[in-house]
Amino acid sequence: MKEYAKKEVEKLIKDREKAQAELWLLYEISNAMRETLELEQILYIILTAVTSHEGLGFNRAMLFLVNEKENMLEGKMGIGPHSIEEANHIWRSIEEQKMTLEDLINAYHNFKKDPNSKLHNLVKSIKIPLDEGQGILALTVLEGMPFEVLNDNVRKRVDNKYLNLLSAQFFVTVPLRAKDKVVGIIMVDNVFTKKPITKSDISLLTLFANHAGLAIENSRLYEETVYLSNTDWLTKLWNHGHFQAILSREIAKARDNNTSLSLIMVDIDDFKNYNDQFGHVAGDFVIKSIARLMLDASRKKDYVCRYGGEEFAIILPQATKEDAKNIAHRIRDKIKINKFPKQDVQPKKSFTLSCGVATFPFDAHNKDDLIRNADAALLRAKRSGKDRIVLF
Ligand code: GH3
Ligand code: MG
Ligand code: MG
Repeated sequence: MKEYAKKEVEKLIKDREKAQAELWLLYEISNAMRETLELEQILYIILTAVTSHEGLGFNRAMLFLVNEKENMLEGKMGIGPHSIEEANHIWRSIEEQKMTLEDLINAYHNFKKDPNSKLHNLVKSIKIPLDEGQGILALTVLEGMPFEVLNDNVRKRVDNKYLNLLSAQFFVTVPLRAKDKVVGIIMVDNVFTKKPITKSDISLLTLFANHAGLAIENSRLYEETVYLSNTDWLTKLWNHGHFQAILSREIAKARDNNTSLSLIMVDIDDFKNYNDQFGHVAGDFVIKSIARLMLDASRKKDYVCRYGGEEFAIILPQATKEDAKNIAHRIRDKIKINKFPKQDVQPKKSFTLSCGVATFPFDAHNKDDLIRNADAALLRAKRSGKDRIVLF
């Protein structure tokens, strides 16, 4: 009886120590997550906590987020080795450097710079429609509950292409909850060590996932707010305030790297004429369509902004004056050949643009002069007959 009581006490103490360690882990991770609102960094902290030895210690962790608009589950991040060789190499170096969970979390900047993490790229290429026929990853969201696939029988029943793509044999998925909705899932496994996943691993993971879901939701709301405050409601282009910020940043970059940067100022010709005849709603439709066409005709790295009213500004990083001229022509042509409703009332029977181009550092050495000179070129385009591009 005495012996039995002693064992019980030892077990209680052990359980308590374990609970304390878990609580400490949650506390440490919550603190790390509170220090940033950047979504990518939050995801990194979550997955580092799930994979590090000081944390939950899984071999691999993959995180997917729900895209509500498209009703998809999208792969966002994967942390873990790709092969057993890589696994041994990474784990040895973590051990040799005596890296703590905190050190690993601080290594985020290395992660961001590493473009060839195979698992990460693989996860990011996965997009799963959110319906029941799409397998266990989608089901984790739809049912809002964890799934354990820990033996061959279960594994056979859930087999599908996404699991095969991820080389997932035995694994657990848990939903990431924020208030009353599921924002994503985490999937974990021990594909290299083959260490069995225990009930207590799963309960800690679930506890942790609830914290993580809330942190993700907060950071998403924050990023959405920032995005909305930088964009124009009608066209979804960058707004004037953000235009100023981007231009300052890009000029500084161009200065540091000794590259050029061009600015195109654009004004729709005789827009008042159209607006006065058909009203603001029809006018807004044209502005919105022109914004879309300008985005299509510019390069991926250009910033198309709504300067105000029916005026736009396009920032072209690394573009010489010649590059800018070509892009401006492409934009002008695209608008001119597009068919807008009732465009016949316009003087040229179609919508036309006037553009002014100025290039840093040849035409100006700072932001205000660059804007002023692109504007001056635009004014010359207007005065010399509209529907044209003038280089400063
Ligand atoms: P110009 O060729 O000289 O540019 O002639 P314009 O008629 O385009 O003249 P201006 O640029 O001075 O006038 C712009 C007009 O565009 C004024 C207003 O009727 C209209 N406008 C400005 N902002 C908006 C907007 O947000 N929505 C709509 N629908 N119309 C706008
Ligand atoms: Mg104008
Ligand atoms: Mg105008």
